[in-house]
Amino acid sequence: MSGEPGQTKGALKSWREQKWRRARLYRLGFERFEYDKYLETPHWQAFRKHALETQKQRLGRNCCERCPEEKRQGDVELHVHHLTYERLGEELIEDVEIICRACHEKEHGHDTDKRARHYGPDYR
Ligand SMILES: [Zn+2]
Ligand SMILES: [Zn+2]
Repeated sequence: MSGEPGQTKGALKSWREQKWRRARLYRLGFERFEYDKYLETPHWQAFRKHALETQKQRLGRNCCERCPEEKRQGDVELHVHHLTYERLGEELIEDVEIICRACHEKEHGHDTDKRARHYGPDYR
């Protein structure tokens, strides 16, 4: 997997990613459709905090990793997005990317209104 910034990975939509996510959720004791429950687990909450702290150490602040520098000003809602579900439940820091809501919606297609109800505003 390449980590080129700004590249559209479309990872979520791939068949392999869907399969990993299902298998991982199952191993963690969830049903395949219970990804939103996974996002509420202490593990994920701690991991997303860790991801944000790691970025802050690296860049001195939290910001969207996809937006150009001039768009990074001000308060934006940041999401921790899975680049891959291969290690769901045991994520590595490079398995996720910190992106703003707008970039996240672009990444997942335009069905995020629906998703937002399930996943809440600031984690996925
Ligand atoms: Zn962005
Ligand atoms: Zn995402």
